[in-house]
Amino acid sequence: MPYKTSFSCDRCHANISIKELFRLQKNSTTTCKSCHATLHSNETISFSWAFFIGFCSTVIPAEISFNMTNSLATMIATAVIGGILAVIGIAFYTYNTTRFSS
Ligand SMILES: [Zn+2]
Repeated sequence: MPYKTSFSCDRCHANISIKELFRLQKNSTTTCKSCHATLHSNETISFSWAFFIGFCSTVIPAEISFNMTNSLATMIATAVIGGILAVIGIAFYTYNTTRFSS
């Protein structure tokens, strides 16, 4: 079975805490809990992309639902659901693509 290469230490293959996901920035470093190596993250999703995805998944569905139902409550609910899905999607994508190297 191949090693899971995303979100794990490249020295000892220990998983990196999912909490690091929320602290990640470009060129940020973290310390492996298992072997104490200093790990650098590769380039993660850029903030402007996250903003763009968030915008598309809240404003556009909200606009469509408002045009269809003419209801402000439905529009807000659609925007909230879209926003939650976008955050989950971005977090999932980042978790699966971020690699750490010592
Ligand atoms: Zn390690």
